[in-house]
Amino acid sequence: RLLGDVIPPNDIGVTFDDIGALENVKDTLKELVMLPLQRPELFCKGQLTKPCKGILLFGPPGTGKTMLAKAVATEAGANFINISMSSITSKWFGEGEKYVKAVFSLASKIAPSVIFVDEVDSMLGRRENPGEHEAMRKMKNEFMVNWDGLRTKDAERVLVLAATNRPFDLDEAVIRRLPRRLMVNLPDVPNRAKILKVILAKEDLSPDVDFDAVASMTDGYSGSDLKNLCVAAAHRPIKEILEKEKKVCVFFFLHHQRPFRLNWMHLHL
Ligand code: ATP
Repeated sequence: RLLGDVIPPNDIGVTFDDIGALENVKDTLKELVMLPLQRPELFCKGQLTKPCKGILLFGPPGTGKTMLAKAVATEAGANFINISMSSITSKWFGEGEKYVKAVFSLASKIAPSVIFVDEVDSMLGRRENPGEHEAMRKMKNEFMVNWDGLRTKDAERVLVLAATNRPFDLDEAVIRRLPRRLMVNLPDVPNRAKILKVILAKEDLSPDVDFDAVASMTDGYSGSDLKNLCVAAAHRPIKEILEKEKKVCVFFFLHHQRPFRLNWMHLHL
């Protein structure tokens, strides 16, 4: 049941080059994650050099948090284990505790690995929620116990990367276990231009495309919004072709299918 949530490094398909802008976050992640995952022995000497076992990526939706987590795993040659509340509710309903145990045990067996907890607020939100189900409480406790287990094993090449749009909903205990918190914010004009260039890098573009002009017209757009804009723009020529074909169809019906033409005219005019 867990296999569907694990992606080997060569199959992840996202590298840092696929992510436009966010240079500071990318640099910090390279420094914090890649070296400890690849050379854990360098970080075993003193208390202050212990490798970081938890990093939080927070910011508005669609700003590239999942992409960053995937790129980290790709570039570190680590397996990517994607866990979320939806996995628990769809495949492990009532068995959250078992799921968490299985995830951590698998992560250690196939290390180096990155456990990515998307929407960590829904999985590990505030514990004092009065309506909380007993199974949910047990799952959270199991998560903390296993996570602490990782933190005591310096050479264990397993890291928890968590992402959220709602950092203020996180449990204090979870925040403490995520000592490095990186904000992934909405892009400004120059960064939107960079993201557009990355999204359109492999497309056949007209030479007069003005990235800066599009960037300045898209205030408040996230990377995901920019991607959707590009997809919509790419579909426009297809729509135009189809519209032309429709005209050809109508033309065909007008000349060769007189009875149908009457029906068609009846229905659509
Ligand atoms: P959410 O908080 O809603 O889970 P997210 O921050 O995890 O969103 P992603 O899932 O990483 O965002 O991004 C969604 C899509 O938006 C990506 O698949 C990609 O196509 C595009 N995208 C977002 N940011 C960037 C970026 N900086 N460079 C290139 N593409 C981007």
